[in-house]
Amino acid sequence: MTAFSLDNRRALVTGANTGIGQAIAISLAAQGARVTCAGRRDCDETIAMIREAGGEAEGLILDFADPMAAQGVFDGAGYSILVNNAGIIRREDSLHFTETDWDAVMDVNLKALFFTTQAFARAALAAETLPAAVVNIASLLSFQGGIRVPSYTASKHGVAGLTKILANEWAAKGINVNAIAPGYIATNNTEALRNDPDRNQAILERIPAGRWGDPSDIGGTAAFLASPAAQYVHGAVINVDGGWLAR
Ligand code: NAP
Repeated sequence: MTAFSLDNRRALVTGANTGIGQAIAISLAAQGARVTCAGRRDCDETIAMIREAGGEAEGLILDFADPMAAQGVFDGAGYSILVNNAGIIRREDSLHFTETDWDAVMDVNLKALFFTTQAFARAALAAETLPAAVVNIASLLSFQGGIRVPSYTASKHGVAGLTKILANEWAAKGINVNAIAPGYIATNNTEALRNDPDRNQAILERIPAGRWGDPSDIGGTAAFLASPAAQYVHGAVINVDGGWLAR
């Protein structure tokens, strides 16, 4: 067994039906984890892809319209990996941004992430399924301001902050908490940007790698952060961005 192996580990990935969450679920399973693919709709496609590759997966409906939806999910179930990937974005000028859009994004991206992680950590510590790992999906907008996405930017700055405070509190208890800041990845989340020829060109010209990221570009980093190879990595927010932040 290598330091990168996830054999005998049980993982839960939120928003695993599509995009980055789907790619992460596939990567964790490829390293040997048994993966619960959670989503507000079924994750049948992801589960089929994992099983076809010889991995183990099952589905779970989890809708963070209720940010407390994951309470009780982890108790006695043997999870030692949690990937908080589910997230939404709302675009509007800050002058016109509504409370509804503010609350919707904050509930899914930040409040659900915190209370899901709290439930996971309580269960892992109670059952001593340690070492355990939490991987949060942050964003370039954990560092930069962006434009026309005020609640998203606030929520993703919050994700970076929570990653650090939880690492401070739990590192010595055997729980690694880290985050990945994906660059511009071709998923539903960025479809509007890719469909705008001016924004698409401006983004591509600024990415040193010269291309949009693929969801699979994030999967390997998540598998690493969940593995024993990352046992001394705590509170890090790792950019996987084709070099965007290096410019
Ligand atoms: P995506 O394809 O839109 O996936 C988002 C996932 O979150 C979907 O599975 C979605 O489910 C799920 N989700 C949304 N609302 C939910 C709710 N109420 N309860 C449970 N699940 C919910 O976009 P993505 O790009 O893969 O996004 C994944 C993560 O990466 C997000 O946190 C996003 O902020 C982050 N990110 C993406 C990029 C990028 O360039 N794509 C860059 C930086 C960070 P549905 O399919 O049902 O909507």
